[in-house]
Parts: sequence; C-alpha cells; structure tokens
Amino acid sequence: MSGPSSLLPLEEAVTLIVDAARAASIDRESVPLADAVGRTTAAEIRLDRDHPPFDRATMDGIACRAGDAIIGGVLRIDRSIPAGTDPGVAPPPGTAVRIATGAAVPPGLDAVVERERLTELDDRRVRIETDEIATGRHIHPRGIDGRRGDLAVATGTRLDAVSLGVAAACGRPHPICARRPRIAVVATGDELRAPDDPLDGPGDAVRIRDGNRPMLSATVSALGAAVVADDRVPDDLDLTTESIRSLLDRADLVITIGGVSAGDRDVVPAAAANLHLRPRLRGVRIQPGRPASAWCDSDGRLRLMALPGNPVSCLVTAHLLVRPWIDARLGLSPAAAWRTIRLAEPVRPNPNRTACRPAIATAEGAVVPRWNGSGDLPHLVGTHGIVRLPEESDDVAAGTILPWLPWSLGT
Ligand code: AMP
Ligand code: MG
Repeated sequence: MSGPSSLLPLEEAVTLIVDAARAASIDRESVPLADAVGRTTAAEIRLDRDHPPFDRATMDGIACRAGDAIIGGVLRIDRSIPAGTDPGVAPPPGTAVRIATGAAVPPGLDAVVERERLTELDDRRVRIETDEIATGRHIHPRGIDGRRGDLAVATGTRLDAVSLGVAAACGRPHPICARRPRIAVVATGDELRAPDDPLDGPGDAVRIRDGNRPMLSATVSALGAAVVADDRVPDDLDLTTESIRSLLDRADLVITIGGVSAGDRDVVPAAAANLHLRPRLRGVRIQPGRPASAWCDSDGRLRLMALPGNPVSCLVTAHLLVRPWIDARLGLSPAAAWRTIRLAEPVRPNPNRTACRPAIATAEGAVVPRWNGSGDLPHLVGTHGIVRLPEESDDVAAGTILPWLPWSLGT
C-alpha cells in the first residue's frame, strides 16, 4: 500500500473509479413494472397523451354552464355521464348532466357543481345551493399537467412508486432500465467462519463469523447491483487468486473483503497481480478505509475492488467507493447521492485524512456514536449514513453543516 503522503484524496479516488466504470457501455433491458421499483431508467419516458387526456370532472355532481348556475336556481338533468363513457354533445341550454369524478365533461359545459352543493328535487331536477360557481369549477382541463410528448421520467431516474405510476399511465409497462451491475463478493481471512458456525470447537475462541459479506451484499443490492456469486477464502494466495479468477467470469466487478493491508498474509494485491489486473487505486486518504484498492483490466474497466476487513471500514468504503461505481454503471451521477447535515454535537476530525463517520440523523442533526474504532460493528446499528469531516486538528463545532451520505437511497 502507498505511504500516507501518496494516498489519493477521496475525490480523486472516486473520479478514477467512475472513469473506469464508464469505460464499459451501459447494458439496457426492459423490466416489467412489477419488478421495476428501484431500477434506473436507461431511456426517457414521455407522455403519450395530453394529461389529463380530456376535460375531467374532479367531483361527483352535475356539469353545467357556469352562467346557468345561480343560487336557488333549478336545473333539469339531461342525462348521466359515468367515468369512462363518451360525454356526447352539449346538452340543451339551461340543462345539466349528472357527472361522476373522472368522467369527461361534455363540450359546451364549463363548471361542475359538487353534490354537496345541490339539493335533489327529484330524479331529473336539482337545485343549486351556492352562488360561487366560477367558470372551470371542479374541472381538470385537458393537457394542463402536461402535453403529449412532454418529458415525464428522465433517463437516469431511479424508479420509485411515483415514477412507476407515471410509466404505467404513459402506457409503458416495461420501462427500459440499466441492467443491474453484477457484483461478486469474496471474504478473505483464516479466522473467518460462516454465520451459522456455533464456534464451539477447538481453536474457535479466536475465530469470528463473517459478518461483512452479508452486510456488503445487502449494501450493494440495495444500491442497485445484483450479487451474482460469493465466496470465502483463507489467507492463501493460490486460493484467493483462483476464487477471484472464477468470479471474474461471472461478475462485472469482484469485491474482496480484507487481506489488503500491510500484513504478510494480506494476499489480495498479489492475487490481482497473478491475474494480470492493473492497479488503479492503492489506498485512499480516508479514515476509516485507507487500504481500499482497485484494479482494472487491459481495457481500463474496473474489475476488482479490495475493501478492508474491519466492519466499519468495509461499510464506509462500500458507500464511498463501490457506490459511485454502481451509480456510474446505472447512468446516475455519483455526486447526487450526497446531502448535507448539521452536526448535533462537536466531533473530533483527523488532521491527516478525511474522517468519514457513521452517524445517527436526529432532529437536532448528526450524532456520531462513541465507538471503539473500525472493528466496532455493534455501534453501527441504528446509524443512518456517513458524515464527512474536514481534515482539521480542532473539533468540528456543533451546528457545522457537513456533507452527508445516507445509507439508504432517496431524499
Ligand atoms: P484485514 O483487513 O483482513 O486485515 O482485517 C481487519 C480486521 O477485520 C480483522 O480483525 C479481521 O478479522 C476483520 N475482518 C476481516 N474480514 C471480516 C469479515 N468478513 N467479517 C468480519 N470481520 C472481518
Ligand atoms: Mg485479513
């Protein structure tokens, strides 16, 4: 790994990663709406009709000419227009039609008087009980929300409930989306055992369960990637090389956890060299997460990322470094994931590296839990994202507005 002075600043590391992500074109596929929530559009969706497509009644009641509707006046009902039926021609002067919410207002009529303002005299006659009947009352005019051909959902939109509804309304039951980038995850470490291991055998007192692999898999899946394979290997160069080699055939990006620090048994960089991958990133000026590294293939495409094994480092680097790769592969702007937050309490930064602290977003702002270093997984529970501190010696004061990267997507 590089010495502290040659560590790459976070921005530069992200730029390298994003450039390498964009070295490959984005594959597109059409996705049924039922599976499309959280997927990212790779083609725009335009309104296929005016919205609304006709002058639409927004209340149940009668449609009439505004000028005919005076308080105490009686209007004869010409006919009834349920939603989804042809409104026909204008009714004779001085008459009204019964109309349902969502029905088309017949030509020539320019107001809807809601039921609550009418008295039913008999089947065919109503009395108006309000004198506030302005032209256009309770009519949602054709095209006022948008015109046929207007942009409805832009390329590079993560489809949420609303944009899915818009796609459906525009007659797009299979929106074109970016294919989920395929990720494979390998946990490295002689000490690691499976989550279901009771750890009650000889030597198990100093072994630990692999918590990072499920945490990382869940993280990248939630960010829009597909975890297509995973593995766990001991700190052995040949086994690590073979694991990465076989996973590279199945995934766009292989992510290793652990084995990338300065220890004798940190074999991931040597495995990358065995596979003729080209070093792109060897250490980032962040805390935690300094050893994070990345390699490209001969076409400049990012194929291997190595995250440090400490759980906090693993999660933080997944968000700081893997997430921009996923976003770029989805056609999203990686910078857009960042928000700002106010610090609720003073926090000690790191003068030499960009400290990125998991924090809880409270009504008063970000609270950084007291934690015992980057091995402290329990203190991650209940955090909402990362607050990014400046490289300073003094405490950052409560009230300071800082960059904030939420774990979850959205606003
Ligand atoms: P390393 O980055 O391999 O030097 O690991 C740093 C620390 O993280 C060590 O204490 C490891 O035991 C721990 N660690 C590494 N991988 C995992 C994992 N998959 N799950 C939980 N802890 C891990
Ligand atoms: Mg290790």
